[in-house]
Amino acid sequence: MQICETKSELRSALQKLRKDGKSVGLVPTMGYLHEGHMTLVRRAVAENDVVAASIFVNPTQFGNPEDLEKYPRDMERDLNLLRAEGVSVVFTPVPSEMYHANAQTIVETKDLANTLMGELRPGHFRGVATVVTKLFNLFQPTRAYFGEKDYQQLLVIKTMVRDLDIPVDVCGVPTVRETDGLAMSSRNVRLSDAARKAAPIIAQSLDHADTLVASGITVASLRQKIWDHIATETLANVQSIDIQDAYTLAPLDGKIKSDIVILVAVEFDPVLLIDQRVISV
Ligand code: AMP
Repeated sequence: MQICETKSELRSALQKLRKDGKSVGLVPTMGYLHEGHMTLVRRAVAENDVVAASIFVNPTQFGNPEDLEKYPRDMERDLNLLRAEGVSVVFTPVPSEMYHANAQTIVETKDLANTLMGELRPGHFRGVATVVTKLFNLFQPTRAYFGEKDYQQLLVIKTMVRDLDIPVDVCGVPTVRETDGLAMSSRNVRLSDAARKAAPIIAQSLDHADTLVASGITVASLRQKIWDHIATETLANVQSIDIQDAYTLAPLDGKIKSDIVILVAVEFDPVLLIDQRVISV
């Protein structure tokens, strides 16, 4: 497995690997890998001739400097995990390698970037879209793999690829969970013991939603019931619960008559956890 810290090392590594029209699968990550990331990697290995990954904690998608600074990192462990799965090349740039000191260009999926989680975290999706565009240009992958856990992010990337004619197949992968239902996240290690015990309430509230939708509930009362359920946990500070059209993220009201996605963001001080559930009707 080749580890490339610079763009030029990456380009020459990929040039050799891509010979004879080999397909390349890319898994972009911010590191501190868990079973969720490794599921993306395994799918990429199954579907492509060559698999590449990136480990880059992207400063431009963090609004809060403390969140960026405290983001967990363990490069050696991550590299061993990727090597064990048969990844061929890993890109591990520092921010000054990734971004020109006088960078002027951003990529923004206008409406989609500034609604929902984008309102809660201004500038976040612009940072994501810009860095993922750069990764697509650097790797020129055949396919790229992203988790459905970051549902709005997945839609932002699919939209940007469509609008900018980027020649990559964007593949979504279902959320991988701990045995108690908590969505796996690199941030989970920052939870206190008490918060870690409490956090599965998020997934439980979503399990509960399936039955409520089947009973013909309205959007407003479904939202309220999920909110109340999570709020029974005193450590949980609900930031947002949004129930939107599953494919466009358009707002909905009244009885639920089409496929929805429920997007939940809950803070267990100081860690923001997100989860989602698509419900087909
Ligand atoms: P991150 O390192 O948090 O930026 O995540 C890198 C990729 O892994 C993103 O596409 C995430 O959506 C995906 N991912 C993170 N957690 C999970 C999970 N629990 N299940 C599936 N995919 C995940």
